[in-house]
Amino acid sequence: MQVHYSTKLSLQDYIAQEAWKQAHLDHCPLHPEGGCGFARHGTYARKFPEYCLIARYYCPKGHTTIGLIPDFFCSRLPGTLDEVEQAVNVAQESASQEEAAEKLRPEITPASALRWLRRRIRYVKDTLITVAGLIPVGCTPTLESFRHSFSTERVLVKLREVALVFLPVLPPVVGFGPRFTARYS
Ligand SMILES: [Zn+2]
Repeated sequence: MQVHYSTKLSLQDYIAQEAWKQAHLDHCPLHPEGGCGFARHGTYARKFPEYCLIARYYCPKGHTTIGLIPDFFCSRLPGTLDEVEQAVNVAQESASQEEAAEKLRPEITPASALRWLRRRIRYVKDTLITVAGLIPVGCTPTLESFRHSFSTERVLVKLREVALVFLPVLPPVVGFGPRFTARYS
């Protein structure tokens, strides 16, 4: 499973400081009461957009490894929240999703690029709708209105902070809960 590791570091600083070495979990997310043998369990690698390591714990009782995902990274998707947000911004500024997809991912087939983009649009839409239902954001669930409401250009990263208590139930890529739907086309 993945849990949130709260940090203000950028990806570059996280790498430069090898911050995964300091990343720390106080208790097992499955057994807050303790007694499960929960312990640090090395690291694993993330390769996009740059190679870096993620701190990992292991709960023997739950037979579960737990990765500590820093604020700038997506849950359950390679890459950063800023990259996802930027892709959706490009889609909104383009004449069509097809045009945006080819602009963003010229190195893959148009069909694959469109799937890649639509998955990200879906993740952002699911996230904003869910957040708007959980906390009084006072705006419609669009990136543009969230940017205005929270006075930030980095809405998804900001949500890790303002929707902190809801991260375990929020859908990916901001949250660590289940996806809205089992699969996206
Ligand atoms: Zn445990």
